Amino acid sequence: MAAPMDCLEPLEGEGSAERRASGVEVALPSDPAAPAPLCPHGPTLLFVKVSPGKEATRRFYACSACRDRKDCNFFQWEDEKLSEARLAAREIHNQRCQPPLSRAQCIERYLSFIQLPLTQRKFCRSCQQLLLPADWREHREHQLMADISIPQLGRPSRLLFPLENKKTHAQYLFTDRSCQFLAGLLATLGFRRVLCVGAPRYSQFYLEESFCRYNMFNHHFFDGEAALEVCKAFVQEEEGEGLIMVTDPPFGGLVEPLAVTFKKLIAMWKEGQSQDDSHKELPIFWIFPYFFESRICQFFPSFCMLDYQVDYDNHALYKHGKTGRKQSPVRIFTNIPPNKIILPSEEGYRFCSLCQRYVSRENQHCVHCNSCTSKDGRKWSHCFLCKKCVKPSWLHCNTCDRCALPDHSCSGPKDGCFICGALDHKRSTCPNISSSRRANKAVRKQKQRKRSKIRREALKDNP
Ligand code: ZN
Ligand code: ZN
Ligand code: ZN
Ligand code: ZN
Repeated sequence: MAAPMDCLEPLEGEGSAERRASGVEVALPSDPAAPAPLCPHGPTLLFVKVSPGKEATRRFYACSACRDRKDCNFFQWEDEKLSEARLAAREIHNQRCQPPLSRAQCIERYLSFIQLPLTQRKFCRSCQQLLLPADWREHREHQLMADISIPQLGRPSRLLFPLENKKTHAQYLFTDRSCQFLAGLLATLGFRRVLCVGAPRYSQFYLEESFCRYNMFNHHFFDGEAALEVCKAFVQEEEGEGLIMVTDPPFGGLVEPLAVTFKKLIAMWKEGQSQDDSHKELPIFWIFPYFFESRICQFFPSFCMLDYQVDYDNHALYKHGKTGRKQSPVRIFTNIPPNKIILPSEEGYRFCSLCQRYVSRENQHCVHCNSCTSKDGRKWSHCFLCKKCVKPSWLHCNTCDRCALPDHSCSGPKDGCFICGALDHKRSTCPNISSSRRANKAVRKQKQRKRSKIRREALKDNP
């Protein structure tokens, strides 16, 4: 699965990117032992709607993976009791939504396909499917590709066209430049095996030991215990030596369920470690927009964000802009020491010996912050009143007592925590987080004001 970037908002402040338009947050179940009801995408997640100006409402279960009701319309109140008949109907619906080919059928078909002479190896572009001779008739009116070679089978992303205009399954492919950089980097760092989390639709191209149908929002293996064992065997091979996990989740997905899932995969890897290696961490590349930095680091304090801009081929938003320079907001978050990751000098990246990491061309070391502070690749400037570096387009506003776009609407001193109102922390680090459901109307109103203001500024400031 990849990234519905249409809902991206480069907002400021912790967790703000997660409180996007929908105003829905993940909640913890009242009874952690109670299993979540299942939708076609596995166990659902518990959500709470935080509509501006209203009390937090009743909590409900919805699909873990699909942000759009059109893709999965599962809905159930947390305290709702369903009749046997409705449960049975749901079960049938879940079965019916499974892909037409099972994993076993995919593998069997793949093995038959590679036995065919080259001239008979056809791929239906209309149906995105490898064809066996028995299928030809049914697809004869479709757009077919012939002579599919083994190397072509090894690069399914070239055969499958990316899915677009769908929130859940919208797919964006890395440019060749970014692919080559990543592949070269993995080789340089000595990794021999990659656990790729988030490559849907590839089932027909891989044998059983190298692919599992998996939902990264709830750690759900669609093909049950056997598939989980496949994953485990791969992750724990050679005591987990030489393995890296690479993931590029949909950006519309919430960070928290992803973090929970990744911790489960890390635990799986750790299980395979011998005792004296217990301090080691599973190396990870998490590819995600830069404005999720504080949120990701909150769950994974050992992660740092690299300056490298990951580019996408088919995303209109990040094609060359007026300036001619393509700016992508997508970065790599990793627990590998950044001084070991050499970024390409031909693209302007250089080493900052003070920060001990490679930074982008425009990113200048600020002596006051003692850091190369730019997050978006542009040159940031230090504000002595805010005591930090800010975007080049911002000016210090005395009314707001912070830096902002020159034509922002002033709102007085900055808002504090959305939950308890204190000014020294934000909602995401609130010590009173458990009482979030009791948050009062005034807090909601404040949140609404801030949210709409941030949105206005985000729109203006989007380069
Ligand atoms: Zn077809
Ligand atoms: Zn520096
Ligand atoms: Zn600074
Ligand atoms: Zn300032």
